[in-house]
Amino acid sequence: MKTENPIQIAVLGLGYVGCVTAACLASLGHRVLGIDRDERKVHQVRNGRAPFYEPGLEELVRDNVAAGRLAASSAADGIGAADVALVCVGTPSEKNGNLGLVQLRRAVEEIAARLPQRSKPLIVAIRSTVFPGTCEELVQPAFANHAGVRIVSNPEFLREGSAVHDFFDPSLMVVGSDSPEAARAVAALYAPIGIEPCLVSLRTAEMIKYACNAFHAVKISFANEVGALCEKLDMDAHEVMTTLCADVKLNLSPAYLKPGFAFGGSCLPKDLRALVYRTGRLDLKLPLLESAMPSNDQHLKRALEAVLDLPAQRLGVIGLAFKEDTDDLRESPVVTLLEQLIGKGRDVRVFDPRIRLDAIYGTNRNYILETIPHIGRLLTASLDQVLEWADYLLLAQKQDAATMERIHATGLPLIGLVNGAFHSVIAGPAASHAAS
Ligand code: NAD
Repeated sequence: MKTENPIQIAVLGLGYVGCVTAACLASLGHRVLGIDRDERKVHQVRNGRAPFYEPGLEELVRDNVAAGRLAASSAADGIGAADVALVCVGTPSEKNGNLGLVQLRRAVEEIAARLPQRSKPLIVAIRSTVFPGTCEELVQPAFANHAGVRIVSNPEFLREGSAVHDFFDPSLMVVGSDSPEAARAVAALYAPIGIEPCLVSLRTAEMIKYACNAFHAVKISFANEVGALCEKLDMDAHEVMTTLCADVKLNLSPAYLKPGFAFGGSCLPKDLRALVYRTGRLDLKLPLLESAMPSNDQHLKRALEAVLDLPAQRLGVIGLAFKEDTDDLRESPVVTLLEQLIGKGRDVRVFDPRIRLDAIYGTNRNYILETIPHIGRLLTASLDQVLEWADYLLLAQKQDAATMERIHATGLPLIGLVNGAFHSVIAGPAASHAAS
């Protein structure tokens, strides 16, 4: 699996990420110069040795140095000949938790200092983990006077201990750039591996890395908290988690992983509350599970603030139950949202295709009439009644294509809770449609 068009790559930083990247890219056939300020690491690589222990790395470094594809230097001068500079320097935590960008700033300055001596274009790809916006705010400005430089974000996902294996069989390949050609050129470096790259914007690439690491941390903490509870209950935690993982429709799947509105309904809030109550009685602290309800409350609060900010005189809400295609109103976050809006004196009407007072009966009808009569009074019998009355719409549930077409046809401004981006207006402002 060697590349047919080897290009010159400079890898800045020969730490865990940089040295593995340099040696693996060299083994794909590229000509790679590893650059590090640490003379000891440079000396090790030059002598065909890995500067730290990582399974398989020593052999890769040895073979590729011997083959003349991998070299190392403590001076950044070699950047002059490179087509791509991969920046793999450290971004350690500062005392306050912020990301330390000292190494990155310096590496970028060192690259910029070599540019006046060269005429060919250069791609600067940031492989270090950096907070969204860093490429735009720190890296791009450093090259503002160099028209031939393109910036790419190419975060690394390898794990120490299996870094070489992860390089050749990555879980994910993300390349972000404003320049499609530069993104394609960086993706092409890894072409022999055969993974389909995700081509995204600079900021998205930076954010994906954080989202992945946060997700991994949350997964580990979740499994450990379930494990701790199982232990207290004298149960086999591995049997519980293995069985949980057997569900690849709802548990290990994209389900519940789309930003949207707060959760609700008759199960999740009730069962989380019971779990937290019972663990408290067992003298067990499970901060992750305990934080799920407060997190949900915060999300509801963000939605409320966004809705209160709307210049709406008459707010038409579409969807009342906690999700579409149910008439169960128990613990619907939309009900809570409406209660807050009414409390603030907002003029609101609601339509939910599954909740029509003239059509529902039994428990659900009694719940509306007896437990939430103040919400029941807001319900309209048809979508048209809301559309004709409102000057602003709030989409609280997904609707079918035909309903969305009718909504859009009004030209009314519309914000949605369903995609989690509460502040974005997803339909244009009303032209002349404002019923009295
Ligand atoms: P590291 O500390 O092991 O290596 C960084 C190297 O950069 C050091 O050898 C340092 O001497 C060198 N360096 C600093 N400034 C330099 C400069 N101006 N020019 C040349 N070399 C310079 O760090 P690491 O673990 O390889 O991590 C690098 C980045 O990758 C970090 O942002 C990290 O968060 C991210 N990352 C790390 C891992 C991991 O498992 N270690 C995985 C994915 C992403």
